[in-house]
Amino acid sequence: MNKFSVIGNPINHSLSPMIHQEFAKEFGIDLSYEKILSPVDAFNLTAEKFISSGGLGFNITLPFKINAYSFSENLTENAKAAGAVNTINIDNNIIYGENTDGAGLVNDLENNLEQKIKDKVILVIGAGGATQGILKPILDKNPEKILLANRTKEKSLRLATNFSKYGKVCGFGLDQIKAKPVDIVINATSASIAGKMPELANGVAEGAICYDLMYGIETPFMKWAHKNSALKVSDGLGMLVEQAASSFAFWHGKKPQTQPVINLLREKGD
Ligand code: NDP
Repeated sequence: MNKFSVIGNPINHSLSPMIHQEFAKEFGIDLSYEKILSPVDAFNLTAEKFISSGGLGFNITLPFKINAYSFSENLTENAKAAGAVNTINIDNNIIYGENTDGAGLVNDLENNLEQKIKDKVILVIGAGGATQGILKPILDKNPEKILLANRTKEKSLRLATNFSKYGKVCGFGLDQIKAKPVDIVINATSASIAGKMPELANGVAEGAICYDLMYGIETPFMKWAHKNSALKVSDGLGMLVEQAASSFAFWHGKKPQTQPVINLLREKGD
């Protein structure tokens, strides 16, 4: 049996086992995929135990993506840029680290929501771990520019400087958002988890695609976007499935279909 898993804390909520079993069915691959709860101070031990039990690969979720980065012996360009790893593959006893979060978002926007990124103005709100994962893959698609706004302005300024080698990124504070139209607004803050809307200085949703990385509920950001005449509003469920599909391809060399799995999860959520 090919052994895979996801390591996190907490981990009970994870949809990854179900998503990977659905992908495996498409190719007739027999695999096990378990949820592993790791103590917060023992990620390396948990990962080593899984590998020595014959594990071939695993996903990493909160709060261990930075630990997984240090744990990896060989990093992809996306992982290096993000400074975080969400997918590990073991090949010939070498630990390969990848970050598929950004590819997940880009594929959901471009393929499922039919929103091309090239030449678009994109406002990203938030400058935490998720933002670090998505900036390079977005910039690789050649947008006109990314406007990066964060509550703590210093963080968005720092990320804008670090990522400017991949394309145009301007960092500023939430209170400096101008009332100018943008094409895509991405809420990459964790405000939605607390049931809050980031305090934006100006409304910029009109005519834009508004995307919240959080999934599972209609967030305050999504409600705000509907109220402010957004063109399209989406949660991050498609990103979750797409990042899993990229992890699956990293392990198995085959890219599964995602839309049937997104539909299945939406039906289950209703
Ligand atoms: P982090 O804790 O690393 O960063 C949190 C960010 O949110 C910071 O920029 C913080 O600002 C900002 N923030 C928090 N509360 C508020 C608030 N009330 N108003 C304004 N800004 C706020 O979190 P992550 O980057 O890891 O995660 C962000 C979101 O992305 C989460 O909802 C997570 O679930 C989601 N996610 C979804 C994925 C998917 O597949 N769909 C994959 C990965 C993440 P400050 O710097 O000022 O503190």
